[in-house]
Amino acid sequence: MRIGVFVCQCGTNIAATVDTEKAAAAGSLRDVHHAETIQYTCSDPGQRAIIDAIREKELTRVVIAACSPRMHETTFRRAVTRAGLNPFMMDMVNIREHCSWVHSDVDTATGKAIDLTSMGVARVRKQASLFSSKVPVTNRVLVIGGGVAGIQAALDIADAGLPVTMVERGPSIGGNMARLDKTFPTLDCSSCILTPRMVEANQHEQIDLMVNSEVDTVRGHVGNFEVDIRKKATCVIEEKCTGCMICQEKCPSRAPDEFNAGVGESKAISVPFPQAVPLVANLRKEHCRQFIRGKCGVCKKVCKSGAIDYEQEDEVTTERFGAIVVATGYEPYDWREAYPDYGGGQYPDVITSLQYERLLSASGPTGGHVRRPSDGEEPRQVVFISCVGSRDESVGRPFCCSVGCMYIAKQAILTKEHIPESQSYVFYIDIRAGGKGYEEFTRRAQKEYGAVYLRGRVGKIYPSKGKLMVMGTDTLSGEQVEIEADLVVLAAGFAAAEGAGELARKLNISYDQYEFLSESHPKLRPVETNTGGIFLAGACQGPKDIPGSVAQASAAAAKAIGLLSKGELETSPMVAAVNQTRCTGCFKCRDVCPYNAIEAVEARDGHQTARVVDSLCHGCGVCNVACPPAVISLKGYTDNQLIAETLELLR
Ligand code: FAD
Ligand code: SF4
Repeated sequence: MRIGVFVCQCGTNIAATVDTEKAAAAGSLRDVHHAETIQYTCSDPGQRAIIDAIREKELTRVVIAACSPRMHETTFRRAVTRAGLNPFMMDMVNIREHCSWVHSDVDTATGKAIDLTSMGVARVRKQASLFSSKVPVTNRVLVIGGGVAGIQAALDIADAGLPVTMVERGPSIGGNMARLDKTFPTLDCSSCILTPRMVEANQHEQIDLMVNSEVDTVRGHVGNFEVDIRKKATCVIEEKCTGCMICQEKCPSRAPDEFNAGVGESKAISVPFPQAVPLVANLRKEHCRQFIRGKCGVCKKVCKSGAIDYEQEDEVTTERFGAIVVATGYEPYDWREAYPDYGGGQYPDVITSLQYERLLSASGPTGGHVRRPSDGEEPRQVVFISCVGSRDESVGRPFCCSVGCMYIAKQAILTKEHIPESQSYVFYIDIRAGGKGYEEFTRRAQKEYGAVYLRGRVGKIYPSKGKLMVMGTDTLSGEQVEIEADLVVLAAGFAAAEGAGELARKLNISYDQYEFLSESHPKLRPVETNTGGIFLAGACQGPKDIPGSVAQASAAAAKAIGLLSKGELETSPMVAAVNQTRCTGCFKCRDVCPYNAIEAVEARDGHQTARVVDSLCHGCGVCNVACPPAVISLKGYTDNQLIAETLELLR
């Protein structure tokens, strides 16, 4: 056995805190025939040095002490393969994240680096060659969420020839963009650009659109996911409904208008909005007399198409997918509890920016005439308050919503266009306008449209003589400001879509403390998740504007297309294996396996034993620990290897 040790300096990233020459002293260990330090091991010359050493010194195993295997394990596996070794005869130890980046004392960091490198040598000594196999993939993609990001991803994938199922939990696709009036910085009408895309997605022969639907359970793995999709009962037979809205007109039960963000009212049965796709009515049982009182039936009587079915039940279908794009977007932050000084939702004329979008929109509850919710009067003085639930440590939400400054400028411009006599005031912290044409746009709001910008937070809003008094501090002049407002618009921050965390757990992907879904690497893998085959698009990953959401959706689509284009995938050989002759058939492993990768098979003597389905196993090692007679081992992480590694540390 001839082992080679290569210690990376990573420029000064490692070398400033770890004495790499001393770490390479693992070269004096048994079986080590070559040890060297390299300035950048991952660079072309660095890889070349490893390949040359393997060939010249006839090395049979390699330890690379460098950064996290998450970054470069594949790079080095490829390098040793080019030198003629089995790729799994290489082991990486992490002396950057585990040593140099977390210690400032050189002796401590160096001592730990020496230990880790020696342990790597002990481990690789027990390593055996491993071989990947190929499995066919399912050529179909699931897109979860039908906002602009989901629509873009679905269209890109479908245009590339792959069938797509788009699952949207609401009654129509379009997401929050469908609620917007005009969009910054070009002020083009939101529905004029979105509706054609919604229609295209619905009519695309490669896209199967499922509204009122959600993902129930997800099994399987990259290339072959098996997903149960629940289509919720809406008491309307989608194929029969013509969207004539007669049921909505005649329905006697009032209900909140969800599409209009709670401004105005709708009916228990309604078409969500005139451009909805699909244009189908939707009955909400919690508001319907037929379900609450047990009698009504008006909609069923008036529906000429026979589309109403009160007995309808949820339907669960199971489909297979090769890849999944998650595009579940965001919801405006519910500010009411955290901001009692702004009235906590008690004042009807303190509304959110999304509600204001609906007041500005011609398809909104006031037909595009801006009116105060309290009395239907046209407001003259409108105050916009930025960062409500964003950049505010005091309510536990330190992050920026990234679009608030921009849509406030847009809404101030539109207010002036709707009501030329109006005056807008904007309370802001900083103006964040980083996109193309964004800075110029916020200046237009001030210079051309006369919006008065005041730098500072608002301390209190209180009603007085039919108006709202807004009290704040102008931190530039240092003066207290009090404005008599007719309408106050709060730029409520972004919150993750309701249930995003629960969905992430079903998909086995990570999420942050705000339930925004986590990308695999913020710079190099911004659309991938840590679970192979699952990609992210749009505001589900964090606050984003429309161009950012669309760009990320196209990137996610490209990743999914790339993944499935080969028709088959190479599986990792680092999977668990059961020694069936010693398996007692207790199936503790099956109970704990998160990937359903353990199946029962009949042994020669007739008793049931466990077997690992390689294509389902992720190599997480949970079964190893659970197995009472310890007859499961994980290839590449066998008990022998781990014991050798630990003994080396204790030596
Ligand atoms: P969303 O639009 O939120 O769509 C997500 C979709 O996923 C929804 O249809 C939702 O029902 C669905 N969904 C959620 N969870 C599930 C689930 N578990 N299963 C199935 N479906 C699910 N940006 C601009 O660029 N220009 C502007 O002028 C602009 N104005 C704005 C004004 C306001 C007031 C606000 C709040 C935002 C504004 N934005 C603007 C930002 C814009 O709304 C977002 O960038 C965009 O909507 C993000 O799209 P998305 O598809 O990622 O998410
Ligand atoms: Fe409205 Fe009556 Fe139909 Fe219920 S049954 S949705 S209350 S019309």
